[in-house]
Amino acid sequence: MLRWDSPLAELPRMTAAKVRSLHEGGLFTVHGLLRHYPRRHEDRKKFPSFPQAAGSSPLCLRGTVTATKASYFGRRMQFTLTLTENSDRVAAASVQCRWFNVRYLPKILTAGQDLIIHGRPRALKKGGIVFDHPDFEVLETDAADSALIHLNRIAPVHPSIGTWSPRMLRRLIFETFAQLSDQDIPQLWPCTQAEPVTATTGRTLTTAHALRAIHFPESLDKLEAARTHLAREELFEMQCVLARQRARQTGGSAPLITRQSPLLAKFLKSLPYELTAAQKRVLAHIFDDLATGHPMNRLLHGDVGSGKTIVAATAMLGAVAAGHSAALMAPTQVLAHQHYENFRKLFEPLGIPVVLRTAARKEKSGPAGPRIVIGTHALLFAPDTVGRPALVVIDEQHKFGVRQRAKLSAQKPHPHALVMSATPIPRTLALTLYGDLDLSLLDEMPPGRVPIRTLVRSHEKLDEAAAFLRQKLDEGRQAYLVYPLIEESTRTALKAATAEYERWRERLAPHACALLHGKLKADEKDAIMQSFRTGQTRVLVSTTVIEVGIDVANATVLLVENAERFGLAQLHQLRGRVGRGAEKSWCILLAGKDADEKLDRLQILEQAADGFAIAEADLAIRGPGDLLGTAQTGLPPVRLAKLPQDLALLEEAREQARRLLSSDPELTRHAALRGRLAYWEKQLFAGVA
Ligand code: ADP
Ligand code: MG
Repeated sequence: MLRWDSPLAELPRMTAAKVRSLHEGGLFTVHGLLRHYPRRHEDRKKFPSFPQAAGSSPLCLRGTVTATKASYFGRRMQFTLTLTENSDRVAAASVQCRWFNVRYLPKILTAGQDLIIHGRPRALKKGGIVFDHPDFEVLETDAADSALIHLNRIAPVHPSIGTWSPRMLRRLIFETFAQLSDQDIPQLWPCTQAEPVTATTGRTLTTAHALRAIHFPESLDKLEAARTHLAREELFEMQCVLARQRARQTGGSAPLITRQSPLLAKFLKSLPYELTAAQKRVLAHIFDDLATGHPMNRLLHGDVGSGKTIVAATAMLGAVAAGHSAALMAPTQVLAHQHYENFRKLFEPLGIPVVLRTAARKEKSGPAGPRIVIGTHALLFAPDTVGRPALVVIDEQHKFGVRQRAKLSAQKPHPHALVMSATPIPRTLALTLYGDLDLSLLDEMPPGRVPIRTLVRSHEKLDEAAAFLRQKLDEGRQAYLVYPLIEESTRTALKAATAEYERWRERLAPHACALLHGKLKADEKDAIMQSFRTGQTRVLVSTTVIEVGIDVANATVLLVENAERFGLAQLHQLRGRVGRGAEKSWCILLAGKDADEKLDRLQILEQAADGFAIAEADLAIRGPGDLLGTAQTGLPPVRLAKLPQDLALLEEAREQARRLLSSDPELTRHAALRGRLAYWEKQLFAGVA
């Protein structure tokens, strides 16, 4: 008998080479093999008759190979075979199958074979039906396993691994199940309680049932029930990791900070505007957290320009009023500098020292006692250089992920943490990548914003755009010009940006332009930003270093070249650099040469001003795959849950995880789950050690 964690070498008919091939595909144990899920299933109980017309949905056909032909055109090769329906009729129907440049096919496909194909039928111009590059499987009808494993069932088609074809994997997994007892398949958690009772057994689905059924389902309905069960379980596992992480982050003790301070009242009264209702609500969340005696661990997200900075500043002042230091960490030096300037204006009238600490500027220590420190993310992990603040605000760029927060939480004592996201976060991501944090949302804009007009245009409109830009500059406005540099580090890329910059300088002369990019030294960047802020520099030609947070009210035009290279959310973020004053603002998105057909995707920006809608659209276009890419996040993989469709399962999993961990924090009654979580926690911390 096999066990759940038996090594693959113990499986039937294994050779060293075959095991190696599976290892290279990342499979090591029975458990890993059974989590290698099929990419689809074929209903091989009853095959449809051969099609007479083209169709849009894929078909699975079975027939006999009656002819094959390989034709060569220079170095190119086309392989064609005729597949004929097995029927008693005199003129049995047949279809063509074609493959291009698959050179081994003539060796393995020959007349007389019994073949199953899967693909989409297309109509040939000269008549007849063709399948181009169908999936196929040769049936060895005399082999004993064919009828049992590969036919007369809903057959799984697994992704190939090395030398393992789907057919070989199907047989291996089938035989593995035959030697494995259901008792050996662990149930992570009785989340089956929520499962509907199945009609046939009258019992709830167990993980063992579900796992068998995801590979070899009795029916397509049962397949979906199995998928739901396993998806729920994988989401639950992930949510447990996050809930434990959250418990670890909020578990210790942290300084008491209350909002009952005359200094706070004075500060809020001194602001030139009143806080929005959303800002007040979020501040109430934050001060509730700060008064518990345990570390706050909160995410504040809201659209560009929703006023996150003042929320952070107020919380930081709360810390200072309670006799502690507070720190704000920005993703770039430019932004750290801007926050520094702003915070000085806010706090120096109150007699509170503000100091700047970046990699380039470490000294400049103020007087002892509570103070406000502004720095870059790098300094977070050197707490002594920022004086052990009681509250850390992290002005985030996506780089600051679950792993980095895990590392922050390992610091003793753990400070109150407020993470601010520069972009609105779709619900699915809020529950996954940020699932260890409590959420606050700024869903209201400060009053009096002038809407930004967004124009998506072809490369041919470059001259017109330049003329428009010029006109705005003549009227006294300022502008940003963004040029994408994918590889900012390479010399050629920098050269391209510099050449581009020279071209714009000529086009826009005599208006003063400056070039800002990531390779400049910190004080050079500061000087350029300072000159743009004061209005000496009229046009900032820049890479995406301006993406986050820069705030210059007189800048009313943003022009992005090669806009198709950016994501929607990123463009929305860039667009937030304008529309910050009372003047009407413009965002012009120009396609690169020959990229006009890629503009459709950007059109949504012309219509939508709401960052949440854009973030959702962006997620739908790119798919959550790269965002949930588990290698980077250190979280358990999501293989079967489809996001965002399975959002309800995700929310339920989060509820269950939090409830279980609060009733049994050490999981003394859930050994299987405890083992899994220990494994994932090792992964999570491995990335930051
Ligand atoms: P973001 O959320 O993108 O970080 P900021 O904090 O930079 O936005 O705020 C954008 C602008 O709105 C700033 O110039 C800020 O002074 C202003 N602002 C913030 N809150 C209010 C408010 N309640 N009323 C009016 N203006 C506000
Ligand atoms: Mg900001």
